[in-house]
Amino acid sequence: MESSAGVLKKIKKGVLGSARGCGVFSLVQNSKWRRDRLLILGYHGVAIDDEHCWKPTLFLHPEYFRDRLRRIGRCGCTVLPLGEALERLYASDLPERSVALTFDDGTYDFYKHAYPMLKEFGFPATVYLTTFYADYNRPVFDVIVSYILWKRRCAFLNLKELIGENLRFELNSEAARLRATRTLLAFSSRRKLSAEDKDDLVVRLADAVGVDHQEILAKRILHIMTPREIGAVASNGINVQLHTHRHRTPSDRTLFLREIQDNRTRIEALTGSRPTHFCYPSGVYDDAFLPWLRDAGVESATTCDPAIATRSCEPLLLPRLVDSSTLSALEFEGWLTGVADMLPHRARA
Ligand SMILES: [Zn+2]
Repeated sequence: MESSAGVLKKIKKGVLGSARGCGVFSLVQNSKWRRDRLLILGYHGVAIDDEHCWKPTLFLHPEYFRDRLRRIGRCGCTVLPLGEALERLYASDLPERSVALTFDDGTYDFYKHAYPMLKEFGFPATVYLTTFYADYNRPVFDVIVSYILWKRRCAFLNLKELIGENLRFELNSEAARLRATRTLLAFSSRRKLSAEDKDDLVVRLADAVGVDHQEILAKRILHIMTPREIGAVASNGINVQLHTHRHRTPSDRTLFLREIQDNRTRIEALTGSRPTHFCYPSGVYDDAFLPWLRDAGVESATTCDPAIATRSCEPLLLPRLVDSSTLSALEFEGWLTGVADMLPHRARA
C-alpha cells in the first residue's frame, strides 16, 4: 500500500500540473504576494561520481543542477546575495521573484561543479562552511562511513576485525547499513577517536569491504574545500558564512559559542571577511540557541523547513527549501513561482 507521503506527493503533483496548465503559475509569480517573499534555496552537493545515487536527497547530478539554474533564469527570478536579500526582505524592497542560493558544508564538489556553473549563469551564492575538515583534508568521517557501506551493498561485514565487536551486517539491506554506520559512529564517539584515528578506521573499513579508498581520495569525494579553494571562491563572489567548526550544535552555551567562534575565526582567516549569517547543521535547531546566536552577533540563521520567507519570519529561524533529486522540475517551478508554498508541506526538522 502506498504511504500517505506518497499519496500527498501525487496529489500535489496533480494540483501543481493543473495550476500551471490554467495560468495560476504566472498569476502567482507576478503577484505582490510573491514579490514580498524570498525563496531561500539550500543545496548540499553536486555529485562528483555516484553520490546522487547514494543520497538523492542530498546530492544532485551535475546536469540536474544545471537544469535548476536554467529554470531559475527562465522563470525570471532575481537571484540576490543572501545579505542583500534579507535586508531587502525586511525593508519590503524585494525585486520580482527573489531567490537566494545557499550551499551547505563547503564540499569539494561545490568547487568542482557548482561554482563554475554559478559563474556561467552569473548567480551570487552563499556557502555555509564547516571548517574542521578544511584543515584536515580527508573524507568527512560521519558521511564517508555510510558512503563506503553503500558502495559495497552486496557484501557482508563483520566488525570484529575493525572494532573488536562480533557483529555481522548484510550490506544489501539499507536498514543493516544504517545499523552498521551507527555502530561505527557510536564506537568512534565512545572511544573519543582523533581525526587521524577515525581516518585510519575508514581506510580499514574500505579495505574490509573491498572499496577503493585511493579512488575516493583522488576524486575528493566528501572532502571539504582546501583553504586555497575557499580563498579562491571567496575572492570570486562567493559569500562564505557560518555552519559551526565541527558540524554540531552542543546544548551547552559555552560549547555552542565556541563552535561559532572557532568557525568564524577560520572563515575570517580564509576570506578576510567576518561572517554573520548562520545555517543550522543538519537543520537541527532549538529555541535555546536563539539568544546564544544573538550574543555571537549572528544576524540570520536558516533551517531546512520548506517555506518561502516573509518579513514576519524570525531572522534566526528562516525557512529554506532544500532542493534534491527527488523534487521534480514541476515542483521546483512551483516553488520558484510561489504556488508550492500555498500547498500543505511537511516541516523537515
Ligand atoms: Zn551541514
